[in-house]
Amino acid sequence: MRKRSFNLHKIIEKRDLTPSTFVLRMERNGLEFVAGQHIQVGPPNGIHTREYSIYSAPGDKDLEILVREVETGLVTPALKKLKPEDGVVINDAVGYFTLPGDLAEEQPLLFVASGTGISPFHSFVKDRPALNYRLLHGVRYASEAYEREDYAEGRYVACTSQDAGGDFKGRVTDYLRQNPVNPDTLCYLCGNCDMIHEVFDILEEQGVKSDNIFTEVYF
Ligand SMILES: Cc1cc2nc3c(=O)[nH]c(=O)nc-3n(C[C@H](O)[C@H](O)[C@H](O)COP(=O)(O)OP(=O)(O)OC[C@H]3O[C@@H](n4cnc5c(N)ncnc54)[C@H](O)[C@@H]3O)c2cc1C
Repeated sequence: MRKRSFNLHKIIEKRDLTPSTFVLRMERNGLEFVAGQHIQVGPPNGIHTREYSIYSAPGDKDLEILVREVETGLVTPALKKLKPEDGVVINDAVGYFTLPGDLAEEQPLLFVASGTGISPFHSFVKDRPALNYRLLHGVRYASEAYEREDYAEGRYVACTSQDAGGDFKGRVTDYLRQNPVNPDTLCYLCGNCDMIHEVFDILEEQGVKSDNIFTEVYF
């Protein structure tokens, strides 16, 4: 792996998706990663960093993360204030929430995300558009279906718990109970731990082996 030149990355663009959620696009500075990995990111003058899954694809020129501001949080309010030309500190990419290198394109995949947990799936799909996936995205409102146009027609399902403007009114768990998966599906779950635990149990009840369920817990 090529050594990076430096770990202070200049912000190129901040793209607001909702009042609290935004994409930070940064200079890549030679950072290498596999789709699904995460980085530690923080403001340049602070000692605090947090983990963020990489939203962009390994083949992209720039590096992107998708961030939701936690108003009472330490790092996200500071990230939200950053502007183009400001810098952020980034550590090397790590993590095992990645697809098998020898994955056959016809292999059925289920991706289940809550909120910004969609980020690694965005990277998977941008990296390998021909994947045979279904992506369930659990959000409160349809306005939180972040950049849904980036997913292939019919593969993205916004499960909205608070309004009826998504593709399915209810939680991802409700969707799965009504639409059981084939036990041969490889399943990837990312987001908050309550969702992950519940979905894990449902998938096991539906016959998916635990070896075929991969998880990334955000909080
Ligand atoms: C491997 C990994 C990848 C992650 N990737 C992303 C990502 O791509 N995008 C992203 O926005 N976050 C991601 N997170 C969460 C992120 O690291 C921070 O926890 C989050 O941004 C809050 O940081 P903070 O310093 O503002 O809040 P903190 O001061 O750390 O926390 C304040 C409180 O908010 C809770 N909290 C953390 N995240 C959320 C949330 N999204 N919604 C509600 N409450 C929350 C924490 O449990 C804590 O109780 C990831 C976490 C991990 C472990």
